Amino acid sequence: SYRSVSSDGVAVSGGGRRVPVGLKKPPKRIVVTGGAGFVGSHLVDKILARGDSVIVIDNFFTGRKDNVMHHFGNPRFELIRHDVVEPILLEVDEIYHLACPASPTNVMGTLNMLGLAKRIGARFLLTSTSEVYGDPLEHPQKETYWGHVNPIGVRSCYDEGKRTAETLTMDYHRGAGLEVRIARIFNTYGPRMCLDDGRVVSNFVAQALRKEPMTVYGDGKQTRSFQYVSDLVDGLVVLMEGEHIGPFNLGNPGEFTMLELAEVVKETVDSSATIEFRPNTADDPHMRKPDISKAKELLNWEPKITLRQGLPLMVTDFQKRILSPQN
Ligand code: NAD
Ligand code: UDP
Ligand code: UDP
Repeated sequence: SYRSVSSDGVAVSGGGRRVPVGLKKPPKRIVVTGGAGFVGSHLVDKILARGDSVIVIDNFFTGRKDNVMHHFGNPRFELIRHDVVEPILLEVDEIYHLACPASPTNVMGTLNMLGLAKRIGARFLLTSTSEVYGDPLEHPQKETYWGHVNPIGVRSCYDEGKRTAETLTMDYHRGAGLEVRIARIFNTYGPRMCLDDGRVVSNFVAQALRKEPMTVYGDGKQTRSFQYVSDLVDGLVVLMEGEHIGPFNLGNPGEFTMLELAEVVKETVDSSATIEFRPNTADDPHMRKPDISKAKELLNWEPKITLRQGLPLMVTDFQKRILSPQN
């Protein structure tokens, strides 16, 4: 596999092989854990489209075979039903680690994938989250902010799990010399998103399509910044292919209150849609917006698709799935 091109115009492979530039690169072998999920399946599409090989590891906990079924029969695509909490032996060049059960086993899965990367010398990318900033006291959030997380709250299993995953990733980098990358992903939406995982964009869109009121938690003045999935996937790939470890915020700085989001969904889906207030959940972050200057400068990446452009693409997909019996 190729990792970089040195100054003398020679491609340097992961194993130190030097091949003159201009020869066709052999395909890379890439693992995507959680590749049958929302983000993972879009990443798989992109990697296969550029000619590399993909092994998806997924236990279908929240993912669906439907998300990757269009690749069945492609000799460069392989799907393994496996829980990353159990060890696994594979030979690959890169590991995108997206699988993330919302439970303490999150850490076990990350440890196994790091162990795998160490044994085979693969580059490892962790999909961390903006939740590592907790209920932030700094706004917008820069990567240098250490966060404000309640260690014993209802969300802490996810937040602290990801914080621990970042710690392990950096320890394997420092201790074992592993090549690592860390992305801190901000709220992402798009086609193939789970219909019923309770996220705000999927809830509002599904509710508006079903002619039910959109459920606004609390006063609806809390903010989030919503990124379209193709922007995220572009960011993950440039991060993996680039020279910088991170962490990098990958998100769209366009910030919306939940009331404003409801308004955009109403404009996009159904002008007669209504809202209904519900009590908010504990420890809900009051605001969230990425500072993406680091990714702009070092990765030359920034999102291209605004909420008003991206939402209709998701709505089309949700319409089809809500009408079809198996979703
Ligand atoms: P998703 O639930 O659609 O995808 C996760 C996938 O991992 C699913 O296919 C699931 O079946 C699989 N999985 C879960 N536990 C597993 C296990 N133990 N072994 C094997 N497979 C397992 O979620 P997503 O939105 O696509 O998120 C992908 C990654 O991005 C996650 O790590 C998530 O924490 C991170 N992230 C997502 C967002 C977002 O807004 N979507 C924001 C921040 C971070
Ligand atoms: N592991 C794995 N596949 C491999 C290598 C390791 O699943 O190819 C798992 C291994 O079972 C262990 C974890 O990764 O639970 C961490 O491995 P590492 O070698 O870093 O730690 P050790 O086993 O030495 O504690
Ligand atoms: N939210 C809401 N209605 C819903 C679901 C969520 O108002 O039906 C709010 C929730 O309280 C939070 C925001 O939307 O303030 C984002 O929630 P989500 O679970 O999508 O993302 P996260 O909190 O993880 O950023």
